[in-house]
Amino acid sequence: MWSIVGQDRAVSLLQRSLAAGTLSHAYLVVGPAHVGKMTLAMDLARAVNCEGSEPPCGECDSCRRITEGKHADISMTSLTDIGGEENGEDEIAGKGIRTKIGVEQIDQILHSVSLPPFEGRCKVFVIDGAEFLSIGAANRLLKTLEEPEGNVVFVLLTTNEGMLPVTVVSRCQRVELRPMGTGEIEAALASRWSVEPERARLLSRLAGGHLGWAISAASEGSLLQQRDEWLEGMLAVIDAGYEDRFSYAARLAGRFRRNRREVQEQLDLWLDWWRDLLLVNVGCGDAVVNVDRLPVLTEMTGRYSLAQVRVFIEDIRSASEQLRLNANPQLVLEVLMLSIPEGAGIANPAAS
Ligand SMILES: [Zn+2]
Repeated sequence: MWSIVGQDRAVSLLQRSLAAGTLSHAYLVVGPAHVGKMTLAMDLARAVNCEGSEPPCGECDSCRRITEGKHADISMTSLTDIGGEENGEDEIAGKGIRTKIGVEQIDQILHSVSLPPFEGRCKVFVIDGAEFLSIGAANRLLKTLEEPEGNVVFVLLTTNEGMLPVTVVSRCQRVELRPMGTGEIEAALASRWSVEPERARLLSRLAGGHLGWAISAASEGSLLQQRDEWLEGMLAVIDAGYEDRFSYAARLAGRFRRNRREVQEQLDLWLDWWRDLLLVNVGCGDAVVNVDRLPVLTEMTGRYSLAQVRVFIEDIRSASEQLRLNANPQLVLEVLMLSIPEGAGIANPAAS
């Protein structure tokens, strides 16, 4: 059985091709992080090598060896850290990106492509983070994608197909995975991962459509713990004076220089919180993301007008966009701190 959940379109496309014997030699699986790209690639690898009657059965020797990562015909390639090394022929297009999938890694794949399958029927080459192929590596890959040999399937995974050369994209069959609905995630958590109902409800909302995140958060407490810490930090800053707000901005700006994605995630958390305030304000408390904090949201809603909340949501969006466009992080975050609306009954931040 296919282990991917909530991606019926992608699965039925692959199932039809498998049944008709018309599988493509190269797939480009496109979708946001934690949506199931690798799970789908593994399902496909099992399906083309399965010895059972309904591939991928998940139980035959071949399926099991693939699941355990022991099958000799399944190859995984992903980013390697090359540090500060510069190589004219082999630079990646994106500025400031020091990691890439380089020519050497692709040459290893091409060597393996030229040999017959070792233990299965079909060799499967998964390239995770295909947007990080260096220009040289992408060029090496092109010819093989165009004139594939024998029983070989390439599966390229990407969160950002816009960064891939058009020549690579055009030689692959595109499979798009979409974020799932909150209800679908909640149901999947409860039925397939036996997560208790209240926890499934919270995780499905915090997951923002990404089942993989919800599954990880269900098994590792650290993800939820981190969310709680970020949330407490935000709530403290909302009630704090300017001095504390600016030191929060400085800490976040320092973090941004080391880990951009984490700071964007923190801003997403701000955005979810203020959207929740809007929902509670208009009487749609059932739809909030932070279901476990409904009493705090309800209490806070009384402090702000609808207009104040709306304006601040735009301010958060704009800060997030400016960070994406490489504006000075400290400046952007300080401006955001100054834009936090003044709530009724809260001391003026300048006075505290
Ligand atoms: Zn099988």
